[in-house]
Amino acid sequence: METRDLYKVLEVGKGASQEEIRRSYRRLARKHHPDANREDPKAEERFKEVQHAYEVLSNPEKRREYDEGPRAYFGTRAQAGGASGGGFDTNFSDLSDLFGSFGGAFGGATRGAARTTRGEDVTVSVSLKFKDALKGVTTRITAPVEEECDQCGGTGAAAGTARRMCPECSGRGMRSRDQGFFAFSEPCGRCGGEGTIVERPCAGCAGGGRVRRNRQVTVKIPAGAKDGMKVRVPGRGSGGMKGGPAGDLYVVTRVAGHPVFERRGDDFLVDVPVSFVEAALGAEIEVPRPDGGMVKLRLPAGTQEGKRFKVRGAGAPRARGGGEPGDLMVRVRVVVPEKLSRREKEILEVLAEEGEEDVREGLLRAAGQEL
Ligand SMILES: [Zn+2]
Ligand SMILES: [Zn+2]
Repeated sequence: METRDLYKVLEVGKGASQEEIRRSYRRLARKHHPDANREDPKAEERFKEVQHAYEVLSNPEKRREYDEGPRAYFGTRAQAGGASGGGFDTNFSDLSDLFGSFGGAFGGATRGAARTTRGEDVTVSVSLKFKDALKGVTTRITAPVEEECDQCGGTGAAAGTARRMCPECSGRGMRSRDQGFFAFSEPCGRCGGEGTIVERPCAGCAGGGRVRRNRQVTVKIPAGAKDGMKVRVPGRGSGGMKGGPAGDLYVVTRVAGHPVFERRGDDFLVDVPVSFVEAALGAEIEVPRPDGGMVKLRLPAGTQEGKRFKVRGAGAPRARGGGEPGDLMVRVRVVVPEKLSRREKEILEVLAEEGEEDVREGLLRAAGQEL
């Protein structure tokens, strides 16, 4: 026996579903069929190779044996997954109608598609107040999801009726188009590859088997949530198809800004006005925190405009992964009085006479001016 990788022979991945394997087999068998390749002596060999690969991979038990088999014989070891039993025990039934010369050897019933599909993920956004995002909040949102129609159980057929075999493709879901020696296989246009059709559509879903509805979901937004953060709610997206699992719901946070606290990652920046006397002499001032509290801050004498002070842990809690909360950055804005009383003016004039320091000395020197 050949040592070629059976998955490569069938041109499918290691995790291919039974449906994928079946589809690929049908395509390749058609392509390499000896009847369609009379002038190519190697066609029969390739055809047999494809048949053998399908014989093994379409049988869940044989496939498992093959996947777990010794490397020396089969080449690369297959990865686990996707090998759930599809119940294909008669391997060549699918081709019975395609090739007259082989017809006698085949026979058996055909099968429609029975693929389970995971439901779609659904994304919605939720608007949060600044404080709710900071402290965390449990909120109720409305998510537009698709689900199996409960009137027909997802079949799309009216109550009391069932889907019936597609007359166009006799339930195979594929149809062949012959062009000279070549034969093409494509999904059946009538049934969309399902193999079955709805004769009387269900009133609940118009025959589609799915309905849209608004699902109310309670979502816990973690403390410290940032704008644009995605909160995943597993299994609350659209329902699966044919028994497949539901998709997930993603809730994207839209966090309102704050007039004074500017968020930077998990830190906040706040501009705090400081009088020029406080800046010059030093002072203890009270600064607001984003969480609504206050914090005392000691300004040293000679604090300059724009100087930043860090208040550790007064920022946002880490919404992800825990750890220390962010910090509050306090930026000093020195305020110069616009109006002075007569007395203040006198004091400042005394100060001006007293002051020896020329604040522009450094500038002039750097500009090359002689002092
Ligand atoms: Zn069809
Ligand atoms: Zn329905």
